[in-house]
Amino acid sequence: MKNSIFLLNRRVDRFSFGDATEFCLSAINEGRSIQVITINPEMIMASQGNNEFAQVINSSDLNVPDGIGIKYALKFRGEKIENIRGVEFSKNLLKIASEKDLRVALFGAKEEVLQAAIQKLKEEFPTLNIVYARNGYFDDDTVIKEEIISANPNILLVALGAPKQEFFIKSILDKLNACVAVGVGGSFDVYSGLVKEAPQIWQKLGLEWLYRTLIDPKRFKRIFPTLPLFLIKCIMEKTGNKR
Ligand code: UDP
Repeated sequence: MKNSIFLLNRRVDRFSFGDATEFCLSAINEGRSIQVITINPEMIMASQGNNEFAQVINSSDLNVPDGIGIKYALKFRGEKIENIRGVEFSKNLLKIASEKDLRVALFGAKEEVLQAAIQKLKEEFPTLNIVYARNGYFDDDTVIKEEIISANPNILLVALGAPKQEFFIKSILDKLNACVAVGVGGSFDVYSGLVKEAPQIWQKLGLEWLYRTLIDPKRFKRIFPTLPLFLIKCIMEKTGNKR
């Protein structure tokens, strides 16, 4: 059963990587469609002034903790959790999909990124059954939704950035069959090899955010002041000093 905790009134599920994967596979086996959010501090902060996003977060089927900020916020509450990296989690779903011949749909990122990602994934998982792929740049998503529904995927990865990807998944979920739909942010960029992942040691130290900011300084604006502000708010929430 779900083991959830709320950070700034947004639900985070304390699932390990293995439990979260198991939860996804059970849904497919039982013919259910579920929305998975790899939740991070930026999303929680963005949803503070956005009721629609807040609602999507709190009603999603699984919110796995992604990012060192969530881990530390929970540490202040005496909670220990495993940090689940979204890129790794979705990649593992693709690995399982290739082993179990599940149907995969990929939606999002720039066309060249998407094509490079598909090529890399096919090299890594030759039996991967990609039934639909579409870049993430469009004016109207009506046709895209119809196409995805008729492709009938078991795994749908949507890489449009938050909250766009979460809204898209929410709007289509009840029309899908036995499908795990995950918002994966910049994961296709990482799969494609065009964006380098932080070396293992940076990941282990929880400094992936710093690495990504150093190689792409534009990210600085996204992390500061959001990340420290998030931690401060979480501490204040714990001590009852809510503002
Ligand atoms: N993206 C897209 N359509 C859009 C906006 C963004 O397909 O209208 C893609 C973008 O190309 C990138 C991904 O969404 O591949 C999100 O990247 P970002 O770095 O914002 O995600 P993060 O991992 O930081 O959530």
